[in-house]
Amino acid sequence: MAGGFLLEIRRGTQSALLVIREADLPSRPVDVSVAADRLEARSGGSCEASALPAGVRLAPSSCRGLRRLPGEGLHLRLRLRRPPPPRADLGFALSENLKPQKNYVFYCQSCGDIIVKDRKFLRVLPLPSENWSALVEEWCCHPNPFARSALHPQHDDCFLGDTFFLLNSRNESHVSESSMCCSESGHHASQSGSNLKSEENTRVICKCCKTMLGETVSSDTIKYYVTEVIIQPSEESFSPTPRSQFVQGMVAQCLVELSSAKSTFRFTVKGDNGKIYILIWLLNSDTLLVESLGSSSSHSVFTLFGDIFMPSSGPVGTWNAVKVLYQPCIKSKNKDLADAWENDIGVHPLKFPSETCLELLLILGLSTTSLPPSLRRMNSFQAPENWKHERPCLSIGLRARKC
Ligand SMILES: [Zn+2]
Repeated sequence: MAGGFLLEIRRGTQSALLVIREADLPSRPVDVSVAADRLEARSGGSCEASALPAGVRLAPSSCRGLRRLPGEGLHLRLRLRRPPPPRADLGFALSENLKPQKNYVFYCQSCGDIIVKDRKFLRVLPLPSENWSALVEEWCCHPNPFARSALHPQHDDCFLGDTFFLLNSRNESHVSESSMCCSESGHHASQSGSNLKSEENTRVICKCCKTMLGETVSSDTIKYYVTEVIIQPSEESFSPTPRSQFVQGMVAQCLVELSSAKSTFRFTVKGDNGKIYILIWLLNSDTLLVESLGSSSSHSVFTLFGDIFMPSSGPVGTWNAVKVLYQPCIKSKNKDLADAWENDIGVHPLKFPSETCLELLLILGLSTTSLPPSLRRMNSFQAPENWKHERPCLSIGLRARKC
């Protein structure tokens, strides 16, 4: 396809939106045909075809809603002939991948430097949710009986939080900066519950590339963010994952796990400085995205942090993706909305290093830009108060893992 195509498949409904992009060259009349397993475009004497990935079969006779949008191309909706392959694990679930009694090495995701060498855990345990101690205080008529019990891991413990894990830090080769947390950390410390007092935190940075990896939460406990560290069994050699792919995979994983565990679909993405960077509303997590950028070059090659994210031509990429609406909150944008969400107990906070929040915002923005313009924003969506007026950006952005 000269202009490429985009096929957004919903596993749940077994339906698909197909956009056949217009080539940017002045075009002659083009005959487009959709078969169960391929798309063809004929123009003059030439014929271009793109095969759909194995497992994806369209039912051409179910075509409806055909329309042509100038500058974008053809839009049509189709049903699938058979169910698409089920979603594999998004690939980064710590609770699935981290088992007791096995040896692991922890690497800095950004540079591959070893942070924790050969650690064997006896216990890998999920932590209670961030505001569990506030809940206990509300429910108990007497003082919180757990107030003094520390959630500090021993040397052979790994405690898993929503966006981080806690390790005992004796003898590890991280670098801890003197306190860089700004004064704003005071007000969110009260929400973080447990014994993780933010005002006592110091940033833990990789001694090799200086990326922030986590925070010290006590003299012998370090909190590492899941977006900054790769954990691999000791017997495997280090296999680097491109940064943007890793960040979106991890964040997608967090969104999917939390939404299914807590039935919450709205999230604030907060930096380690306590500031809200992004508001995210998870629309669905059953999207399978099939995309080809075609042979024309008007669509920018998706390059981020040095990764080649999408093929510039030729092969068709297939991605598990989650679909989100989002609003950036940097530079005082959407301040009222961010304040409202901050005080809404139906909204779940996700905390990452501030630099990672900015990376995530960039990833979302580029993903939005890669969509045809008519799909980049959603107005008709039944949105929470205020949200409607803000024209949220739509991103089929968090492409979790290449299929
Ligand atoms: Zn590093």
